[in-house]
Amino acid sequence: MNATKAAGKKQIHKEQNRALDDKSQNLWAERLNYFETRAEEIVRTVRELVEIESPSDNKPAADQVSEALAEKFRCLGGTPRLHQAMDYGDHLQIDFAGNGKTEPVLLLGHFDTVYPLGTLANMPCKAAEGRLHGPGVLDMKSGIALVLHAIQALQAWHGELPRPVTVFLVSDEEVGSRSSRAITESLARKSAAVFVLEPAAGLRGAVKTARKGVGEYKLTVRGVAAHAGLDPSKGHSAILELARQIAAISIFNDLRSGISVNPGVIHGGTRSNVIAAEATAVIDARIKKAKQAAGLDRKLRSLKPFDRHCKLEITGGINRLPMERTAGVAALYRQAKRLAKRIDWNLEEAAVGGGSDGNFTAGLGIPTLDGMGGVGDGAHAVHEYITISELPRRALLLAGMIENC
Ligand SMILES: [Zn+2]
Repeated sequence: MNATKAAGKKQIHKEQNRALDDKSQNLWAERLNYFETRAEEIVRTVRELVEIESPSDNKPAADQVSEALAEKFRCLGGTPRLHQAMDYGDHLQIDFAGNGKTEPVLLLGHFDTVYPLGTLANMPCKAAEGRLHGPGVLDMKSGIALVLHAIQALQAWHGELPRPVTVFLVSDEEVGSRSSRAITESLARKSAAVFVLEPAAGLRGAVKTARKGVGEYKLTVRGVAAHAGLDPSKGHSAILELARQIAAISIFNDLRSGISVNPGVIHGGTRSNVIAAEATAVIDARIKKAKQAAGLDRKLRSLKPFDRHCKLEITGGINRLPMERTAGVAALYRQAKRLAKRIDWNLEEAAVGGGSDGNFTAGLGIPTLDGMGGVGDGAHAVHEYITISELPRRALLLAGMIENC
């Protein structure tokens, strides 16, 4: 082949590629349009979910949401299964057989909120200035609504889901996921990838590719009580000892390596004229890498009393190991970024300090992309809201990732 011919062939190839790109660009524009014309419907679904209050600690209330959701997913052809929980709402698993024999993807969320029953009376679900407000609207009832609409869209586009999908919605995420963790982990092990419907990071809607590991410790100091006026020399103050321990613990902070410790709550003593017999501190601990867990744990457990008449006791540990940006996580993000680009959306990624159930699944080595839910601000606060105009492209991203990962 001479040089001109080769160049000509290259040119044709280039044009074919461009035609393909244009075609897929059109397809994605049409799909975005599909969701944009249904934005009102998505908002209605979010509102419906927000208006069934579901605090983590109220089983009857939380069960109402899981039942309502089971019904919605059943209408889409899914097979719901309730995992009974004693102290929390029943966790809800829904399986969609889908097309093809590939491994399922796991869509992971929670329907519990941090708001006590009755919050709606003072914090109603209402739309204003392009935002939808309400308890749990961002964290994470909008994420669940996106799942429903993404599945419905994929069925409309393909006749049936292009692959098996498992949805798992838990009722105890806000209180540490103790009763759902084992189920989450076993479903993740069977899955090719996990998408977590937690809120996106920031108002630019970044997905989350790394989360810190989180733990809680309690340090109890037992000293020797004495009358502060009559026998000050006989006392050994638990409060003084705790204060010195807190200063010692603060040295464990290594922000550059992503390690932080915060004695966020202290208690101690009984009266001002008594040398305190007991004092405690509850310590929040964060780590960036799983391998930092053992070192920090060892340091906390080997604290020694400054005053040898005081005794120390430390309990607790790391509850969620970090979600690290592994090769699998990075690959999912690249895929998401490519999809977003087709609708001229520059999808960013973020590393955040808070933990989620994504920490568990990423900890098992399963590729996990978090922050796939709504965009907004004020999670867990009175001004919690989502940005309504972000809903269509979030639904599109989720649908695209189910289809293409
Ligand atoms: Zn959440």
